Amino acid sequence: MTRPGRILLAALALAALLPAGGRGQPGSAGAETPAAIPWTLLIERPGGARARLDFLVAALTPADAERAVAAALRALPVVPAAPGVSAAWRPWGWAWSDAELPVPVAYNPAGAPSVVGPQAVIAGLRAWSSVEGSRFAFRYAGITDRTASILDAGPDGENVISWAHLPCDRGCVLGLTSKEEAREVDILLNSNPNALAELGLDTVLDWRTVILHELGHMAGLDHSCPAPWGPCTPDEVAAVMYFQYTGTNRVLAPDDRAGLRALYPAEPPPSGSARRVALEPGWNLLVAPPVPPADLAARLPCLVAAYAFDGAAWLRWAPELPAQLRTLAVFPSEVPVWLLASGACAADIAPS
Ligand SMILES: [Zn+2]
Repeated sequence: MTRPGRILLAALALAALLPAGGRGQPGSAGAETPAAIPWTLLIERPGGARARLDFLVAALTPADAERAVAAALRALPVVPAAPGVSAAWRPWGWAWSDAELPVPVAYNPAGAPSVVGPQAVIAGLRAWSSVEGSRFAFRYAGITDRTASILDAGPDGENVISWAHLPCDRGCVLGLTSKEEAREVDILLNSNPNALAELGLDTVLDWRTVILHELGHMAGLDHSCPAPWGPCTPDEVAAVMYFQYTGTNRVLAPDDRAGLRALYPAEPPPSGSARRVALEPGWNLLVAPPVPPADLAARLPCLVAAYAFDGAAWLRWAPELPAQLRTLAVFPSEVPVWLLASGACAADIAPS
């Protein structure tokens, strides 16, 4: 799939795109209001460094969202995908190590709308740094004059939030998070005020909500409800990490906090010791103990399916699958996996 010399490797999550008002999500935009739509791309730079881009797009239709992403990409130093180059949506699996905590984040206010100050960034950093039961923390690294690496040749060693004037075409990229293979994450926010006003978003959009959401990606969280799979539970829809912008949401929801605790529990479990695994109804993203899925299901009766990404393909497990389709033999070590639960259940699981 990789083509040497091409910068853009892959595209996207078409299944994630919903028309405005689709599926009747609580709080989702009606037909008159632009809906925010997630969009994920993997890029590969000439030097080989790969990055994942998560776009948050406001548009009335998926076609408008696609045009908005294309317009924004033309303004960035990445090349649009060659025809026929595609890949399925996939997670970008690394999480910050203990040695990297607290994760420093610097802010470049150049171009910011007058209503957004460093306080919006600091509030977001604080929210994700004070989740009870999680050891995760950000550290505000102050004002920087560097910009998000997607505007540059590649990662520069600093996690940066910066602004750029991105063109909009009937839809608008509100922000994007780039997660570099080189363990750097940057956030680029769109300072194009006219476009937001044209979309009727200038009075609706709460930048603190957008920044809080993008910081969740920076911490290592994906969306609360994996869009291609759904349906989403009410808890997932209420989450800051829900894939669609549904209005001002400046407080982390239980689902957001549970996600952060799963990635960064307060005490890292000593290797060889039992680990508490608690599942909520619906999809759960967590690091599972390195045991066969059937062993986990024997202790967790609510577990009905498991998916893990091995870097190239989705591996899956479900009791009703024929043996040859149960491609997930053992949960990977320290990599988050998706577990589907029919209800709530929990158990302490020791590695086998
Ligand atoms: Zn997102």
